[in-house]
This record gives sequence, C-alpha cells and structure tokens, in this order.
Amino acid sequence: MKQKKGLRKKLLSLELVSFLVITAVIVVVGVVTVSKSITRQEYQKMKEVTALVQSQYDAKYPGVFGIKLLEDGSYQVYKGDAEITKDYSIIDEVKDSFGYEVTLFCKNIRVQTTLKSADGERYLSTKAPTLVTAKTIDGKEESFFKDVKVGKEKQFAYYKPLLLEDGTVYGMIGISCSSADVKAGVLSTVLPLVGICIGLAIVFSLLSIRYITKMVDPLVKLNAFTNDVAKGNFNTDIPASILQREDEIGALARDGKAMQKAIRVLVEYDALTKLRNRRYGEKRLCQVVGNAPKVNANFCAAIGDIDFFKKINDIYGHEAGDKVLQEVSKILKEHMSGKGFVARWGGEEFLLVFERATLEEAEKLAEGILDAIRGHVLIYREKEISVTMSMGIAKGIFGEEPDSLLKRADDFLYQAKEGGRDQICKG
Ligand code: GH3
Ligand code: MG
Ligand code: MG
Repeated sequence: MKQKKGLRKKLLSLELVSFLVITAVIVVVGVVTVSKSITRQEYQKMKEVTALVQSQYDAKYPGVFGIKLLEDGSYQVYKGDAEITKDYSIIDEVKDSFGYEVTLFCKNIRVQTTLKSADGERYLSTKAPTLVTAKTIDGKEESFFKDVKVGKEKQFAYYKPLLLEDGTVYGMIGISCSSADVKAGVLSTVLPLVGICIGLAIVFSLLSIRYITKMVDPLVKLNAFTNDVAKGNFNTDIPASILQREDEIGALARDGKAMQKAIRVLVEYDALTKLRNRRYGEKRLCQVVGNAPKVNANFCAAIGDIDFFKKINDIYGHEAGDKVLQEVSKILKEHMSGKGFVARWGGEEFLLVFERATLEEAEKLAEGILDAIRGHVLIYREKEISVTMSMGIAKGIFGEEPDSLLKRADDFLYQAKEGGRDQICKG
C-alpha cells in the first residue's frame, strides 16, 4: 500500500518546522540584543560627550549660563560675565570630532546649536520638544529618546539638565544624531549575523535532509520488499548494502529475508517429498507455456504415477508408502535437474516439465527415470520394496492452454496404465 504521508515527509516537515522556529528565534533574539547593545553604547557615548561639552564651557567661561532678553525680542547668552551668544566654537568642534549635533538650551529655548535648516540657518530660538521639557526641565532628570522630532528629522537624543547651586534648572545640553543613522548602524551589524544564521540553517537543513533520506530510503526499499513477498513474488530481494547494515534496519532486513525463505517453503514446497508443490507447478507450467513461443523452444509436459501404490500402503503400511514417495521424489529431482522441473501433483502423481526438449528427448529422459525407479530397492524394516511408474508425455504445442496440455498428458498416462503399467505413452 502506498503511504499517504510517508516517514520521509513526516520527518522532513518536523525538521523544517523546528529549523524555521529555531532560526526565527535566533534572528529575533540576535536583532534585539545587538540593537539594545548598540543603543546602550550610543547613549554612553552621548553622556560622555555631554560631560565634555559642559567641562569645555566651564573651562573657557567660568560661571553659570544666563540669558538676557533685549527690547527687539532678541537675546544675549552669557556664561559667567562673558557674552557668548555667537561663540559656537565649542559645539562646532565637538560636532566635527564626534559627529553629534550639540544644543545648548536656556530653559527650553535653543540658544546655541549645531542643528541647521536646509538653508544653513541654525535652529536658534526654537523650543525643545514638550516631552523633553517635561522630563529634563520640569523633572530635572537626564533623558534619552530614540525618536524625538527636531525640525523635520527624528533624532536619537540625550538631554542633561544644567542646575544652579540651589537646585533650580536653568537649561540643558542636548546631544543627538539622526535616528535613521543609528538604525542603519544597527542594521549593518545585524544583517551579516542574520545572513550567517540563515546560511547555517540552510546548511543544517540540507545535511539533515540527506541524513533523513539515508535513513528512510532503506525503509522504503524494505517496504517494497515486504509488499512483493505479500503479493507472492518470492524472487524479490533486498539490496546487499541494507542486509549488511549493523543497525536495527539491517536486522529487520535479515529477518525479512528469513521470513521470505520460510514463507516460500510453506507456499511453494511439498512438506513430505521436499519437491515443489502443485501450486508452484501450475505457476511454472503457465510460465513455460507462455514463454516457449517467444523463444521458439520445444517443451513437453508429463504426468508420472506410481503403479499399485495403494498396495504398498496396504502391505507395508502408510509410513513405508511415505518413504517410497520420498525415494521416488529424490530420483525424479536428480534426473530433472537442469532439464526442467518436477512437482508433486497429487498423492503419488508427479508433474514433469521438460524445457527446451523435443518429444524424443523427453521420452529418453523419462525412460532413464523409469529405469532408475524400477532399479531402486528400498529397505524398509528389513523388507525390500520396489515400485514402478507409468508416465504420459504430451508434446507442447504453441498457443495451447496449459489445461489442455495436462489433459493430453493425463490421457497418455491412462493409456500407459491400460497398456500394462511401467511404461511411457506419448504424443
Ligand atoms: P494405479 O497403478 O492404478 O495408479 O494404482 P494405485 O494403487 O497406485 O492408485 P490408487 O489411486 O488406487 O491409490 C493411490 C494411493 O496412494 C491411495 C492413497 O492412500 C495413497 N496415497 C496418497 N497420498 C499418500 C501419501 O502422502 N502417503 C501415503 N503413504 N500414501 C498416499
Ligand atoms: Mg498410482
Ligand atoms: Mg494416482
């Protein structure tokens, strides 16, 4: 029976699903871990740069930041006594060295910044996003944002509050870079890792497909073998490579072969005489009859019957009769070896098929058989028993049905019995 869902399919789908799940988990965990680690590193660097900016301002201009609003709406920025409104040197240098945008806020107003619009104007006098103001100005806490909107662009940003001695906030320093750049950085680190993971998953999948195929193939062949045996095809075989395996599959194959042999003996052989039985004789005769015209070969079929066999049983007993059957079978087998085949047809009747033989050749062989039987003496319980055989031989005719051929052989056997037994009739 053809399997609807074979072992190979089941194992492959199981393997594929587990590889897909494992690969997906590794990729997701890998991406999350790498992106977290890059984010942490970036924040750490931003914190350090912020401290650097603050220390450079303090070194160059001691004192605290201040802002002075002028009548025309503009303002002046102070650090200590120095007016530093237009001195962007510190933040510009930091931007050149580290690539970060640096902004100095008085309260939440940008008073110095490296952030510029498309036309090159600095984003001065603009306000920090509400979220940042709430957390760092009002809440007095440093804050990190992955996607804070500055101008049109989203920024990855860190804000540190600038405190007076009394603890009040007078501004903050903001360090940022483009979120898209950070994401690109994460991707460029993660993509090769994902590639390696998927590559490894493909390699392992191919290896396990090979392994599964190697494991399942012998089972498929064993299945085909048992299927053949179940259908009565005893000439089927198992490849030597499977029989020689030292694992359970090899053991199963060897047991299968032994079972094939045992079933074959039961199905094709006669238990008493060890000759082929009638079922096998009929099958083989059909093959010979069908094949002969194809190879243009002469052939003959004969039925041999032991004469007065009933008397043997009556005089010497059934066991003696059995011994006679065994001895006669031995003679038949020896003489028919290489000439065709012999099968026990019934009680003391035998079918003989002479392959590649004319009627004359078959008759000659049959005479040899009858001579041998006649000349053989069986010693049973110190008594000598000998028997004779009558035989009818029919010459094979191309196109004739096996039953008709057998009928003719049987008719010749009848003639031989009628003619006085221990003789051959043919035609
Ligand atoms: P004929 O010459 O006409 O063939 O006479 P016959 O006695 O040989 O033939 P008949 O058909 O009258 O008897 C055959 C006997 O063979 C009858 C049966 O008991 C015996 N027989 C059949 N099978 C076996 C067997 O397996 N063992 C023994 N011992 N006898 C068997
Ligand atoms: Mg008989
Ligand atoms: Mg008989």
